[in-house]
Amino acid sequence: MKTETIAIHTGNHVDGSSKAVIHPIVMSTTFERGEDGGFPGGHIYSRASNPNRALLENVIAKLEGGADAASFSSGNAAGMSVFQSLAPGTHIICPDDMYHGLRNQLKNLFAGILTFDFVDVNDIEVLIQHIRPETGVIWVETPSNPLLKITDIKKVVAFARANNIKVVVDNTFATPICQQPLALGADIVMHSATKYFGGHSDLMGGALITAEKNDWWAKIRQVQEMGGAIPSPTDCYWLVRSIKTLPYRIKGHVHNTQLLAEFLEQHPKVEQVLYPGLPSHPQHQIAKEQMLAFGGMLSFIIKGDENDTHNIINKLKIFTKATSLGGVESLIEHRATVEGPDTKTPRNLLRVSVGLEHIDDLVDDLEQALF
Ligand SMILES: *Cc1c(COP(=O)(O)O)cnc(C)c1O
Repeated sequence: MKTETIAIHTGNHVDGSSKAVIHPIVMSTTFERGEDGGFPGGHIYSRASNPNRALLENVIAKLEGGADAASFSSGNAAGMSVFQSLAPGTHIICPDDMYHGLRNQLKNLFAGILTFDFVDVNDIEVLIQHIRPETGVIWVETPSNPLLKITDIKKVVAFARANNIKVVVDNTFATPICQQPLALGADIVMHSATKYFGGHSDLMGGALITAEKNDWWAKIRQVQEMGGAIPSPTDCYWLVRSIKTLPYRIKGHVHNTQLLAEFLEQHPKVEQVLYPGLPSHPQHQIAKEQMLAFGGMLSFIIKGDENDTHNIINKLKIFTKATSLGGVESLIEHRATVEGPDTKTPRNLLRVSVGLEHIDDLVDDLEQALF
């Protein structure tokens, strides 16, 4: 089956008893035993598994081409479950522009349990310098946030394999519609389902997808079940519903973002546009090789200072001034403010989550705000 078909059909099946075409939300926390003491419905207790969660995990696993998926109550809970599954003392090599929420999690919650370095993971020389006998994981986030840097997944995987290290890819910005890290050799893919999977800025969720069901995956499942950072049946239902339109939403996001990037790039008030779909992007070639499409996120650096960026944002009428991404509405934010005092993000950078409004309206809005 092709992606569009998988998205619609593999997160749903017709309910056996009611024949409801759309699988109902099963709120029950507990499931009846059979006469032999077993569980004929396949579920025991909803922290361990639930029909709606099983359907969600099935569609996410199929979309990423994985052997299995585990869903969580947020992207951070998914990331945290990876860290909690590692033996104490494990060393992780992370990107220097790792999503700040996960970087803060490592620094604040895992200091003294795990060790980690934040480096340019796309540079093999740098990896060679930082690798240790206890290095267990290389963490990749591509395109990265907010600089839209591209990491060559195949190159990192080749290095990791040769050194018996696992690779985890945060695929939130790309989604499986734009990039399939497992097919490029990654071991685990992570998502904030809050973003494009949900797609409407109205629910939180996270997911992990594994290339194979191995001991590490069993440990992650154990963290999920014992830790209990699970999504509710209702959230699973809405995610399954939203994922049905993911392939078409992404086509719209990609279309608008490419055109907006081209508009901004020729604008006299814009210093630089960061979007992997532009030939001027320093890693456009790698992006072309490993991505199926270039995604719906871009950043741009204006000719001016921080104050000018705030003036631009305040003049916008269609773009909403808010953090987050992946919804149908366009969002814009001054990223350095969000990331706090130790950020390396340029102070005249604006990050845009390009929505599904008509591109002419988005261009007009930015045009009037930039003048
Ligand atoms: C939002 C985000 C996360 C964290 O996900 P939450 O759902 O907010 O917990 C992780 N990685 C990336 C790239 C993100 O954009």
